[in-house]
Amino acid sequence: MFLHRETVGRVELAFTDREGGLSVGPWTSLNLSTSNGDDSAVVQHNIDLLAAELELDRLVRMTQVHGADVVWADEVPDGQIPVADALLTDRPGVGVLVRVADCTPVILVGLDEPVAGVVHCGREGLVRGVVMAAVAAMRERGTESMEAWVGPRACGSCYELPEDMADAVAAVVPEARSTTSWGTAAVDVGAGVVAQLRALGIPTTDIGADQCTIEDQRFFSYRRQGQASGRFGAIAVVR
Ligand SMILES: [Zn+2]
Repeated sequence: MFLHRETVGRVELAFTDREGGLSVGPWTSLNLSTSNGDDSAVVQHNIDLLAAELELDRLVRMTQVHGADVVWADEVPDGQIPVADALLTDRPGVGVLVRVADCTPVILVGLDEPVAGVVHCGREGLVRGVVMAAVAAMRERGTESMEAWVGPRACGSCYELPEDMADAVAAVVPEARSTTSWGTAAVDVGAGVVAQLRALGIPTTDIGADQCTIEDQRFFSYRRQGQASGRFGAIAVVR
């Protein structure tokens, strides 16, 4: 179920893998999204299993649209799923979930206030600055000092893009420009995210540096599996 699980001060953070759920077929087994055709009751059961394992009172998720909107979980009514790409929490027992398959999952942890967040960052989010928007929102609630964890994603040797698109990303985040292992234009979103976090002075642990979702069957991958790909996730909760 968990690729990585760690407690930092009053915040617990976790990245999931594909194991430990009830989905079958291309969604085997801990698929956390219904956007791909999986049975919604089974997906809800997978999410409930995850929430139970982490002993959460509530797990808030979001409909991710490759934007830069940030939402606080305590402002989301029960049963609602906000449209956003960053979800923050400062209420004990309320977890926040980001779901990915090749995009980059980021967890932010406040060090001087019990605040945490998750961010969904793909190529568009990198250019739009969704990570910076989440950091700014956390700082507005009094967290000056924070740390970040960056998870598994499509690596810069696999994530091929048309040259003009790769160049457009590099014009905003030069560190993200890459080349595929077969010599064509590519983007390394993870490297771009890490560069953005470090530019903000945020110590960053890149646990996904050598964990490419396209190459590694332990993860779901949109590029490898196509439309029916499942989603794995990253979660943060204040204790
Ligand atoms: Zn790769």
